[in-house]
Amino acid sequence: MTDDGLRLAARTAKPDGTVVEVRGVRIGGREVVIIAGPCAVESEAQLLAAARAVKAGGASVLRGGAFKPRTSPYSFRGLELEGLRLLALARAETGLPVVTEVMDARHLPAVAGCADILQVGSRNMQNFTLLEEVGRSGLPVLLKRGMSATIAEYLQAAEYVMAAGNPRVILCERGIRTFETSTRNTLDLNAVPMLHHETHLPVLVDPSHGTGHAWMVPAMAAAAVAAGADGLLIEVHCDPGAALSDGGNSLTPDAFAEAVRRLAGIAAAVGRAIA
Ligand code: PEP
Ligand code: MN
Repeated sequence: MTDDGLRLAARTAKPDGTVVEVRGVRIGGREVVIIAGPCAVESEAQLLAAARAVKAGGASVLRGGAFKPRTSPYSFRGLELEGLRLLALARAETGLPVVTEVMDARHLPAVAGCADILQVGSRNMQNFTLLEEVGRSGLPVLLKRGMSATIAEYLQAAEYVMAAGNPRVILCERGIRTFETSTRNTLDLNAVPMLHHETHLPVLVDPSHGTGHAWMVPAMAAAAVAAGADGLLIEVHCDPGAALSDGGNSLTPDAFAEAVRRLAGIAAAVGRAIA
């Protein structure tokens, strides 16, 4: 093994695969886990409505951004601490564990005080100091693939978290930058079997950011499950047209519930079930 090879994340380090368990939800087992919720926490009413809807529609984990990385500094950048408080409220009401993004190591104590799973976003995949901090946090980490990251770079990012002492890393393919402009990103479903081949860590797929179009999400969610994804990350908003971020790729509760219903048959065809 060369000095810079994968040590902890490599499939050979744990051939049977890793299951990350959080509040009774097992990510990486036979069951495909659905994580859903709004892109951003916008208000108590918006979050609670979305949380109830995704639970009713088949989600077992709630997502919602309190600290939002936005391309423009003038876009809605999240409710921050108030958003974390609302996520805790939604968890208390629904019982769903919560995943939310930590954008900066300075926010980690506050975010870790609320989150059941820490999300490290695409833009921070190679923020090595943040990776080490979440590695020391003791919480599971949902590490999204950088938008221009190779699989090798992605796995080294996971290795950073693990090398800092945290074995509970969950990967998430969320689309990469290509020459194509008709979709927000190009969802790289090659990544699913490739990551499973190279690492024992669970692999999720985010068809919401991977396509940028709500109408494409059900098809690509189905394709992800067929390709062997261990779970999905799907954005849902009760009024996508009024969403403060990512309304264009957010499903309505009805569309979400219908998409999850259709996944059951796909999951069964590949020897899985929806959690
Ligand atoms: C998100 O999940 O809302 C998000 C910002 O995702 P990404 O980091 O993949 O762009
Ligand atoms: Mn989003």
